[in-house]
Amino acid sequence: MSIGGRHCLSKIFQPITIISKKSNLTRQDVTSKSQRLMLDLGFIQQASPGCFHFLPLGLKSLNKLIKIVDDEMFKICGQKVLFPGLTNDKLWKNSGRLNEPVAELFQVKDRHHQNYILSPTHEEAATDLLSSVSPISYKYFPLRLYQISSKFRDEMKPRFGLMRGREFVMKDMYTFDVDVESAKKTYEEVCESYNRVFDRIGIEYVKVLGSSGTMGGTMSHEYQFKASIGEDRILCCRNCNYSANIELCGEHNCPNCGEGSNINLQTGIEVGHTFFLGDKYSKPLGAVCSSTNCKSEVLQMGSYGLGLSRILAAAVEVLSSETEMKWPDALAPYNVIILPPKKGSKEEPQTKNVAETLYTKLEEVIPSLRGNVLLDDRTSLTIGRRFLDAKRTGYHHIVIINKKTTETPSFYELNDTAMNRQLILSEEELIDYIKQNTVF
Ligand code: ATP
Ligand code: MG
Repeated sequence: MSIGGRHCLSKIFQPITIISKKSNLTRQDVTSKSQRLMLDLGFIQQASPGCFHFLPLGLKSLNKLIKIVDDEMFKICGQKVLFPGLTNDKLWKNSGRLNEPVAELFQVKDRHHQNYILSPTHEEAATDLLSSVSPISYKYFPLRLYQISSKFRDEMKPRFGLMRGREFVMKDMYTFDVDVESAKKTYEEVCESYNRVFDRIGIEYVKVLGSSGTMGGTMSHEYQFKASIGEDRILCCRNCNYSANIELCGEHNCPNCGEGSNINLQTGIEVGHTFFLGDKYSKPLGAVCSSTNCKSEVLQMGSYGLGLSRILAAAVEVLSSETEMKWPDALAPYNVIILPPKKGSKEEPQTKNVAETLYTKLEEVIPSLRGNVLLDDRTSLTIGRRFLDAKRTGYHHIVIINKKTTETPSFYELNDTAMNRQLILSEEELIDYIKQNTVF
């Protein structure tokens, strides 16, 4: 990927295809715009239905999202851990979640005939960890543990690419508090930190009342991106600002204020879900703390999921056109791409090292751009062809080195694909423009 410490497009493994010939994927399997764009532009590759390879550009975006999440978790004292992917099914029996058959569960047996679950979520695993060291002194709480890992769900209809996978990346957090009051405070704090994560991603979202479903507990909220492809329906009351997943209420009247006409119904993609669990898991699995008077108290829990791989696809889905991928700055694999002239062109000899020097300068003057500038060094291709590729891949700032760069004074052509405008700028103006117009 890197030549002389620079990110160079010629070295990136990005199999661009119109139709994936090698995979067993047929066009009928492509059910959403984001899935098609991410496959065709070499961000992901399907391994089997609902399972995807993250290729370098896709993984770079995922890592940016992970960094935002890690930053925000640090602010609320979230501690990062990693639970095993396999959970002993005894724990699920003890929590009561296996009382009914769960169609989505992937289950495996070891050589000793012990059943394991390929974890779709980790409430039991997290609670069992606390239980194994219980009773824990009240001084350790609130305790906020989170992980970022693959989750497994044998979805009836894996579709829309990363949006509904059978193996997908989730950030899940489990919180433990000594009493209901402090657990509610934790719930509010985590929700606020999720608001900040979504503010930083920069896609419009709504937080709505959600159903607790099979997870249990007494209160839950969902974070939704508004999108026509979304599988959830959301009711928003313009009269009292109440909003909820339609699963929880009728679609004609606001359950909060009774309003019947000022109701807005939308479809959304669920990108996050928070649950106030109380003692639903801690009681049966025995996760307790010792209180000030040395009495054992059952811990109060919360569970908080962010569908990281789904968020990437949903962001692309919301922003892109049918033919061009678009990213929010915060998640784009690169924010700037530089196109030097074609090999053998008139400009080539006069612009030697101009692209490399500009690359270095951009990174020096704008430290947040470090690792986020890409050099399209495929100079056997025309500028026009490389420009179309860059536009289709959604790079926000495309800098072209051309005839104007060889003149005195010298200028660069900057294409701002988010604003859909082309500017001719001096080096100083160019750096300033990129600095002002990139959200980090
Ligand atoms: P859905 O209703 O879409 O099936 P869920 O309510 O079952 O999702 P949760 O158990 O709340 O999902 O999981 C937390 C988050 O993980 C969800 O908000 C979503 O963003 C993400 N997620 C859930 N299932 C999938 C999946 N099959 N593929 C990708 N992401 C998923
Ligand atoms: Mg959910």
